[in-house]
Amino acid sequence: AKEAGKGSYVLYGKAMQQHFDDRMIIEKNLRNVISNNELSLHYQPLVDVGSDQLWGFEALLRWHSPVLGFMSPLSFIKIAEDSRLIVPIGEWVLRTACQFIKDLHGKGYEGYHISVNISVIQLMLDNFTEMVLAVLQETGLAPEYLELEITESIFMESFEIISTKLNFLKKKGIGIALDDFGTGYSSLSYLKQLPITTLKIDKSFIDSIDSPNSMSLARSIVTIGHDMGLKVTAEGVETPEQLAFLERTSCDKIQGYFISRPIPQNDVMEWVDGRKV
Ligand code: C2E
Ligand code: CA
Ligand code: CA
Ligand code: CA
Repeated sequence: AKEAGKGSYVLYGKAMQQHFDDRMIIEKNLRNVISNNELSLHYQPLVDVGSDQLWGFEALLRWHSPVLGFMSPLSFIKIAEDSRLIVPIGEWVLRTACQFIKDLHGKGYEGYHISVNISVIQLMLDNFTEMVLAVLQETGLAPEYLELEITESIFMESFEIISTKLNFLKKKGIGIALDDFGTGYSSLSYLKQLPITTLKIDKSFIDSIDSPNSMSLARSIVTIGHDMGLKVTAEGVETPEQLAFLERTSCDKIQGYFISRPIPQNDVMEWVDGRKV
């Protein structure tokens, strides 16, 4: 038993070392992703449940590294945050997404919105709100077409500062969605103080809609959101049964593979055209 304990300690040590090496390699390769044109955005449609109209898209980051291959955002966002590389990368995402949706409007695809994920590291920057307004100015996109997606953990950082910034942007007409809702720690009374416009119910609640317990949970989240004057979006909708349930509970918007997987930028117009006919 002692031997095994020692052996597993050595293994553990090696695994840890490997983990740090991997992180270093990813961080190193992340440094020039923008100038090397290794990033792209995919766009996942969001549909208005009541009218079945396309509301817009969530921009999702994709990294194709010539060294490491295709990298999932789940494998590099945290590293980009820890190294602060998320600052230029996040700004690139925002600018590219706003430009894309503005171009779509110009091509006759009017009225579509764009939702962009924002990291807490970005929000803590002194010039975050100025950066967002500058991107809107540069791209010519009106603020009401932009929505920022944030997570509850953002508010644990510095509630006052973050709230002030988000409130300012909200007053400009930008939407603020609380992403992955239900997985964090925020109490309901706390929720009332947040400067947000939308609750995005986490996929885990949608996954288990078939089980009676989560069904009432998902339904409660929609009710609470509406009571607070918020819109409610469901993410990760994969089946017609889930959609039917969300229709019955008057959820406002849905997103998920049942509508579409995230679409490469160049294929978006074709997808929209296909949906119209
Ligand atoms: P998220 O914001 O919760 O995004 C939703 C994730 O669920 C996306 O994964 C999407 O492809 C996936 N998804 C959507 N519908 C379905 C479905 O019906 N079934 C299943 N199984 N999955 C679905 P993705 O693109 O791999 O992104 C993962 C996470 O990486 C995102 O989670 C977000 O937290 C982060 N992320 C992505 N892009 C950015 C970005 O530009 N900036 C920041 N800060 N984070 C990003
Ligand atoms: Ca999101
Ligand atoms: Ca989400
Ligand atoms: Ca999620």
